[in-house]
Amino acid sequence: MKIVFSPKYTAKLRGHVFRPDKFAAALDLLLAEKVFSREDIVRPAPPSRADLELAHTRGWVRRNLAFKFTPADSARAEMKISRSVALAHLMNAGGTIKAAELALETGLGLNCGGGSHHAFAGHGEGFCLLNDIAVAVKKLLKAGRICRALIIDLDAHQGNGTAAIFRGDRRVFTFSMHNAEIYPEKKEKSSLDIPLRPGCGDTVYLALLKKALPRIMDRFRPELAVYAAGADVYRGDALGGLKLSIGGIKKRDSFVFSECRRRAVPAAVVLGGGYAKKFPDTVRIHANTLRAAAAGAR
Ligand SMILES: [Zn+2]
Repeated sequence: MKIVFSPKYTAKLRGHVFRPDKFAAALDLLLAEKVFSREDIVRPAPPSRADLELAHTRGWVRRNLAFKFTPADSARAEMKISRSVALAHLMNAGGTIKAAELALETGLGLNCGGGSHHAFAGHGEGFCLLNDIAVAVKKLLKAGRICRALIIDLDAHQGNGTAAIFRGDRRVFTFSMHNAEIYPEKKEKSSLDIPLRPGCGDTVYLALLKKALPRIMDRFRPELAVYAAGADVYRGDALGGLKLSIGGIKKRDSFVFSECRRRAVPAAVVLGGGYAKKFPDTVRIHANTLRAAAAGAR
């Protein structure tokens, strides 16, 4: 079982609520627990300009590739966009492309990173610069390798950038379940949004997911599912506010994987947000997701 990761994901972003080192920490945990071995790690290539322009404007791509950002760009992204940060976002996009390709080849592709669902075509926001999910899906559509893709966005925040990029594109179904009361203040329109009350907890969350996802999959019949498995739905998260338990999140993940598997829909997994007050909790949740994905595929 392959797992996509680059050490360049670990941007220098000291003191920020988003800790880019969580991805490396999750991978280390999985290596220590022998879920993966070092030989399983696939290093992604950075995406090409043409790949990025499938989902982003030429101007925004130019600035990302030249590492030329304004203070306003950093303010909107809510982080200082250093060269290291911009490079990390490029590599994460390359990683999600690779994971989506692996999904089509083997049934499952894992990016130990990714999930920058707040990046819009022409700007970054909410700790996201480039929409890795949109770039990967657009690339496979363009290459004719798939006709329909489903994006299952279970991060605690709405996948606003993804929804905006695919608005009106009938080849892509965007599904987002998220806390209605947190960022982004202005929600975009996904193919299906399920807004949740703060503190909704395991029971309500899992019931809504179990009702919605099978219907979507049966009606839309995707040829690829990209699963954004945000860890910020966790009850110990500083931002997400949905209050799921670690056990509840495990159930969420295994439900998504089993629904994909029983329909033989290839799944690409990206990790997304995770801001637990106790850092090791975020790492554990991300590792659990990848472990469950791998276990189901073996
Ligand atoms: Zn989030």
